[in-house]
Amino acid sequence: MMQPPERPTFDPYAPPQAPIGPYATGLQGPGMAPRVEGDLVTIAKQYWWPPVCLKCGTPADLVSRVQSFTWYPAWTNLLLLVGLLPAVIVQAILTKRASLNLPLCSACNARWTKARTLRVLGFIVPLFGGLGLITLGLVFAKEAGIIAVLGFLVFFPGVLVVIPIEYLIVRPRTLRAMFIDDYVVTLKGISRPVLEGIRRG
Ligand SMILES: [Zn+2]
Repeated sequence: MMQPPERPTFDPYAPPQAPIGPYATGLQGPGMAPRVEGDLVTIAKQYWWPPVCLKCGTPADLVSRVQSFTWYPAWTNLLLLVGLLPAVIVQAILTKRASLNLPLCSACNARWTKARTLRVLGFIVPLFGGLGLITLGLVFAKEAGIIAVLGFLVFFPGVLVVIPIEYLIVRPRTLRAMFIDDYVVTLKGISRPVLEGIRRG
């Protein structure tokens, strides 16, 4: 009986496929065309954006926002189970960076900046508010116990306010890097009509 011919391991006529994961596009190298998948777009780091605001799509009143992005593999968060230090070290080694020139209208650019400021305040205010109360407790020793408890409560759960700030304010107003390697960046948060425009080229 005849053996079926061995399947070729490389088919030059096959449609392009992602080599590893859904965003593993590094093999395509620099200069690749942008690739839109759902609400994600993967672009070469030196990609020239179309002259529209990436958040709202307007072509008017554009500014160029120089924005740095960082990304590290999500599995490295599992190292937190081992300890904070191993996780921080491995993430520092594996972190990839990208600096992009993003076209935004000045209103969306201002909203982005405000959202990031709010996130910083959402951490700093509970931290220093809590520390302040604890210090006050040391001064007014009679009520030290209750003031210290209040101080801890201001810090935690107070600091959890950064979670709604992140999801309700920061993410809708900014772009996030979902993948970065030496050549490409995958971004989330670009408006649908702009993504459609990029897909059509
Ligand atoms: Zn805009």
